[in-house]
Amino acid sequence: MSADVMIADVVIVGAGSAGCVLAERLSREPGRNVVLLERGPGRWPGPEERDLRRLPIGDHAPYAVRHATDLDGLTAARGCAVGGSSAVNGGYFLRWHPEDFADWPHGWDLDAIDAAYSELDGGESGGGGTMSVSPVSDDELGDAGKAFERYWSARTAVRSLRDRWPVVGVNRVLGNRSGMLRRTAAEAYLDQALGRPNLRVVPDCEVRRLEVADRRRVTGVHTDRFTVRAGEVILAAGTLGTAQLLLASDLEALGGAAFLDAGEHRGLAVSYRRKQPAEPGMVLPTVLHTDDGLEIRCYRDDFATYIDGLPRGGPMVEVTAMDRSPVRLVADGERIRLAFGEPSAEVTAAMRAGADLAVEMLHSAEFAGLVVPGSVSVAAVPGFSQHAWGTMPMGVRTDALGAVHGAEGLRIVDGSILPTGGHSGPHATIMMVAVHIGNLISDEG
Ligand SMILES: Cc1cc2nc3c(=O)[nH]c(=O)nc-3n(C[C@H](O)[C@H](O)[C@H](O)COP(=O)(O)OP(=O)(O)OC[C@H]3O[C@@H](n4cnc5c(N)ncnc54)[C@H](O)[C@@H]3O)c2cc1C
Repeated sequence: MSADVMIADVVIVGAGSAGCVLAERLSREPGRNVVLLERGPGRWPGPEERDLRRLPIGDHAPYAVRHATDLDGLTAARGCAVGGSSAVNGGYFLRWHPEDFADWPHGWDLDAIDAAYSELDGGESGGGGTMSVSPVSDDELGDAGKAFERYWSARTAVRSLRDRWPVVGVNRVLGNRSGMLRRTAAEAYLDQALGRPNLRVVPDCEVRRLEVADRRRVTGVHTDRFTVRAGEVILAAGTLGTAQLLLASDLEALGGAAFLDAGEHRGLAVSYRRKQPAEPGMVLPTVLHTDDGLEIRCYRDDFATYIDGLPRGGPMVEVTAMDRSPVRLVADGERIRLAFGEPSAEVTAAMRAGADLAVEMLHSAEFAGLVVPGSVSVAAVPGFSQHAWGTMPMGVRTDALGAVHGAEGLRIVDGSILPTGGHSGPHATIMMVAVHIGNLISDEG
């Protein structure tokens, strides 16, 4: 082995939500040499950055990068840390609904899915699982959350705080946390594996492209400092990071494409002004899931109180369409750019109808003590949720374990391979996918 070539059985790109799980699972077998490469710094985010009362993705954030979009003034953020986006996200850790998996490929039966989720969130045991998952308590709801739950509990179902599967109705948010600190995938998975001699973790290391022979056989990766040759390359760089690497590499399966198509969750903000300041706490304490696929999110306060440098826009309720709305991930120098397509007419109509419900709610008796009269307004253009997923869906461009069709030695395990959207945000489900695939490929060899 020369100084600038490293040899491994498996190289994993990205120590994020999925990558940390895989590194732990695959290095359990002492005879398998695993290298984990991460572009973020070697120092793990500390208590200041993991405080759930902040979203550390604003100006000068040490553990985030931002991607340009074609939506006026909006950028997409991603974690750039050991822990990935789990180190900077909102800490909402809800499963998808059981029916969201109906069209997943063979091998993804509900028992296996439940077992993998339960490892993460404690399942029926009532414990918090590896991610230390617990519900927002009554005391932590905040005044907007309390008014929201009072209003909707008179009109629809409410999930019990003990249950892990969400319902159509009110879903108090479950958080991956220790008190008010985010519990990251690195703490939950990587930490326990760091002493293993067969696992090498390399931070501050950006992978530039795959090493490919004959346009189909992937033999390793080229980084900004050295090359790693491995029997298998696993991309866990997140949907945007993985797209960047696929588009930069000479793979027949990609056919020289300059972009990949992903799904996003588009959302209409219904903003208002508060009569008194909000108490600090988790950004999103409670949500409503509707039977037509909306997630109505009751944010605690103005996003500007969570993110440095963001202009004030007012506290809001966001009406988010959990259907797949299109976003094109375009190769654009060092970082993918996001070009949003129009949501479908159906999605637009559903968001508008949901916004009408939110306006009615904000004018109700439950919100009378909180909302300044005449201050409610609905955004003209929908925003998006920082969730882009599904560029290389299982069952279409990859198999049920993320192996890329038309390529050898290449697997993807991150948000890129989600084959459908779900009723909830993606974090718990991406980690669930990594647990399940990690278990199966670890047993394979
Ligand atoms: C601000 C924000 C808030 C969010 N809030 C929530 C929430 O509350 N609930 C929820 O369900 N979802 C939320 N999400 C989404 C969720 O966090 C992500 O979908 C999930 O963490 C993605 O996991 P992943 O493993 O696919 O990628 P990531 O966790 O993003 O991991 C990818 C890793 O790869 C590294 N990487 C990328 N490219 C390279 C390269 N070329 N070389 C080396 N390393 C590389 C990155 O630095 C990163 O560490 C949020 C996302 C953001 C950005």
